[in-house]
Amino acid sequence: MSKLYSVLRLKCPRCRKGNLFSKPNPYSFKDSLDMPDNCPVCGQDFKIEPGFYIGALWTSFPIVIFIMTLLSVLLLVYFKMELNLFFVALTLILFLLQPIIIRYGRAIWIHVFVDYDSDAEIK
Ligand SMILES: [Zn+2]
Repeated sequence: MSKLYSVLRLKCPRCRKGNLFSKPNPYSFKDSLDMPDNCPVCGQDFKIEPGFYIGALWTSFPIVIFIMTLLSVLLLVYFKMELNLFFVALTLILFLLQPIIIRYGRAIWIHVFVDYDSDAEIK
């Protein structure tokens, strides 16, 4: 499993098997961003230091820019949407995608700092 695939599936960066998030559904409002303290498969610490995921703002921001660019092209150029309506649609779509964007931002962030270890498993 490649690093990209591991990020896309929200897996642990070390073993690429354990889930980063407690619940698979990003829209379970109360615990959408709940992460176990450690990887259930290899024991990797997911809360590396206090406030570790504040840095994930740097990785979720480019995702937002990417989605905005994609939506702009699609809605304005392809569907020739009116500008006022476009901004309403853009705001709404980005708001609805927020839990997913934050999850991927965090997944990318932890993958920057933790390397893959092919025999990382609790024995
Ligand atoms: Zn793991």
